[in-house]
Amino acid sequence: MRRCLTLLTLLLAGPALAQFPERSITLVAAGAAGGPTDTITRILADAMAPHLGQAVVVEAIGGSVVGPGRVAQARPDGYTLLVNNIGMAASATLFRRLPYDVPNAFAPLGLVSEAAMTIVTRPGFPGPDLAGVMATLKARGDAINMASAGISSASNLCALLVQHAAGAQATVVVFRGTAPAITEMMSGRLDILCDQATNTVPYIRDNRVVPWGVSSPARLPGLPQVPTTAEAGFPSIAMSTWHGLYAPAGTPEAVQERLSAALRAALREERLRRRFADLLTDVPDEARSTTGFHTRFLREEIDRWRPIIQAAGQFAD
Ligand code: ASP
Repeated sequence: MRRCLTLLTLLLAGPALAQFPERSITLVAAGAAGGPTDTITRILADAMAPHLGQAVVVEAIGGSVVGPGRVAQARPDGYTLLVNNIGMAASATLFRRLPYDVPNAFAPLGLVSEAAMTIVTRPGFPGPDLAGVMATLKARGDAINMASAGISSASNLCALLVQHAAGAQATVVVFRGTAPAITEMMSGRLDILCDQATNTVPYIRDNRVVPWGVSSPARLPGLPQVPTTAEAGFPSIAMSTWHGLYAPAGTPEAVQERLSAALRAALREERLRRRFADLLTDVPDEARSTTGFHTRFLREEIDRWRPIIQAAGQFAD
C-alpha cells in the first residue's frame, strides 16, 4: 500500500516538477524601488529569466519586514521568491515579535551578491577626512542626521557601528529604503549615510555625495582614493553586506534545486558580472550560491549579529 502511495506521489509530482516553471516567477526585493536590493534583484531577474524559460518579475517592497513577511506566507511552489540582504540575519535578533521565524520560514537558495559598505555625506559636510566626519558627529550628536532603511537594514547596522565608533548618538532618520535616503541627502537635509557601494557608487561618481571610507579590508578598485575604515583609524566599522535568494519553507526540494541552479547559471552570465562590477558589487564564489552553504551562512550571520545588536541594546517590537 505504502509503495503504491509513493508511486502515486511520484507520478503526480514528477511531471509537475519536470515542467517547473510553467509561468512567470515573482522576486520580491526587500527594499524601496531604485535602492540596492531592488537594483540587485532586477539585474538577477534579467539574468535568471532565460535559464528558467519564463519571465521573472520584480516587486520592490520597502521596510524591513513587509517583503519577507509576504514571501513567508506565499504558497511554497517556487513562484514567489525573496531577495533580501544581511537584514534577514539581523531581524532574527532585533525583533521581539517577528511575523515569521527567520531560520525556519524560508528555504535559502544561495547567495546573490556581496558588497562593501561606504560612508558618505552630503557635499559641504565638514571633513577633511573620516576622522573629521567622526569628530563632527561626536561634537554635534543628535544635531546630525543619519539614515537608516529600517531597524534591521544594512544601513542601520552600519549606522550602529559608526555611532559606536564615534561615541555619539545621531538622530537616525528612518526611510523605506536607502534610495529615498540618498535623494534626501542630495537635497541637503540628510548628513550621513552608510550604505552598500551598489547604491552609493553612481552618486559618488557624479560628485553628488562625498565618500569618506569603505568598510572592506582593502580599498575598492573602483574607488582607489577612498581609504578603508581601518586605514582611516576606525577598524571597528567593519562589515560587508550580502544578498540571498529565498523560497518559502516547504517548497519542494526539486524546485529549490532548479531555482538554485538557475541562480548559479545567472551569476555566470557576462552581462550580470559587468553590471555588478560597475556597481563595485561582488559575485559570490559559486560554492556560496548553493542551498547548503546559504543555510549554514544565514545561521552563522544570525549568531554573529546577535551580540552586536544586544550590546547596542537595539530591539523592536
Ligand atoms: N535593503 C535596503 C534597500 O534596498 C538598504 C539597506 O538594507 O540599508 O533600500
